[in-house]
Amino acid sequence: MSTDQLGIADCPRGSIGAVLAEAERSLRVAGIEESALEAAWLLEHVLHVSPLMQRVQAERPVTAVDYASMQELVARRANREPLQYLLGTQEFCDREFRVTSAVLIPRPESALLVQETIRRCRQNPSAIVVDVGTGSGCLAVSVASALPDARVLAIDASADALAVAQANMEQFGFGARIECVQGDLLAPLAQRGETSQVDVIVSNPPYIADLDLVTLQPEVRCFEPHLALAGGPDGMDVHRRLLQQAPVYLKSRGVLLMEVGLGQAELVCREAEKSGWFRTYDVLRDEGGIDRVVCFEKTEERSKPLIVN
Ligand code: GLN
Repeated sequence: MSTDQLGIADCPRGSIGAVLAEAERSLRVAGIEESALEAAWLLEHVLHVSPLMQRVQAERPVTAVDYASMQELVARRANREPLQYLLGTQEFCDREFRVTSAVLIPRPESALLVQETIRRCRQNPSAIVVDVGTGSGCLAVSVASALPDARVLAIDASADALAVAQANMEQFGFGARIECVQGDLLAPLAQRGETSQVDVIVSNPPYIADLDLVTLQPEVRCFEPHLALAGGPDGMDVHRRLLQQAPVYLKSRGVLLMEVGLGQAELVCREAEKSGWFRTYDVLRDEGGIDRVVCFEKTEERSKPLIVN
């Protein structure tokens, strides 16, 4: 719906209605689909006035300072910066997580990882759960909240991402319960000598194949962290490394849960099978019918020498 259809295009100059109409037009010209909605959300961010009240108070004047802030946000959005980075938040599993350009914006399908982690820990409430590549901390926080007796460790290679994760953990009251550690995949566990102790390793690794990176929409390609997206030539580099590392740190019958991209589940399962370290595997579909999460349970017998990569 455009602002003309909303009947606010004729509001006086400098009013909420006029600022909205101008923002909507700029966003529409830039190719933003939900231009009217996004204009209202950006203005809400600046004025702290809800979209509904913006309609009610359409004739109210906007100060020069607020107008300048709005113009800056509209220009950034027109340049295809994700709305979530501009607003600073994204909802995930019923919580508003803080996000900055240092972290991947949480996606709804990743809630499958949370549900499955919780399900696997039902019989083991004091489980040790490790979230690899925690980003905003959305998985670690959602798991910790559902499993009050679990020990949760959140790892990320990026210090900037960990600062966002830590802020989210504190915001939701998990600052003391979730441990944040900087490091490459499971390397922090190696440094502490914590082998064969983890119940669940959960990860949403980067899984975009190198050649596909250019086909992503500009919001993702130009603004979300490369480290959180790029998964090597076929998008499965990090899955392979986790398949190799996880058996070292999982208890026997511990579980590795990983999100995968379109068409990757079968290949990742085949690699897991080849490794000889996992006794069962499971694939979970998301709401779009895409195989989205793979689950591997570590075998009991040590059939192969462990390689730490
Ligand atoms: N764990 C975070 C998420 O699922 C970040 C994942 C990533 O950066 N690849 O959103």
